[in-house]
Amino acid sequence: MQGIRRQVPAKFLQEYLETMVSAQSFQVSNVRHWTLIQCYAELQFKLNGGSKCPMCKAHVRHVVPIRAEHQDGTVQEFDCLCTRCFEGERAISKVVTMHLGEAAVNHYPRTYGAKTSDVQSSPKPAKRKTAY
Ligand SMILES: [Zn+2]
Repeated sequence: MQGIRRQVPAKFLQEYLETMVSAQSFQVSNVRHWTLIQCYAELQFKLNGGSKCPMCKAHVRHVVPIRAEHQDGTVQEFDCLCTRCFEGERAISKVVTMHLGEAAVNHYPRTYGAKTSDVQSSPKPAKRKTAY
């Protein structure tokens, strides 16, 4: 039986919508936005593939625009960053912002002993491996 050809496989969209709905339950908007950004980036990866880190050329799965406000006041924008370069930027920045549409997540340098609602401490959404 010949189905209608969809541009976006329905199950990807379904996962995305499920995450959007479950994200509504998070009280902390930083976590909610982070979850949405990660999910959206995963959807983009499934549809378009990833990209390359502009700094070290490593493969980047989740392409999310990054804005880094350095300690010295300079601001740098990246189309995306790999995890390693992201942490590098974070270490030398006052704040690093992931942004996608209206959702934005701020990451501050890690400070030991500081009270934090850091997204790293939140449970990550379950990732499924999808084979075509
Ligand atoms: Zn990199």
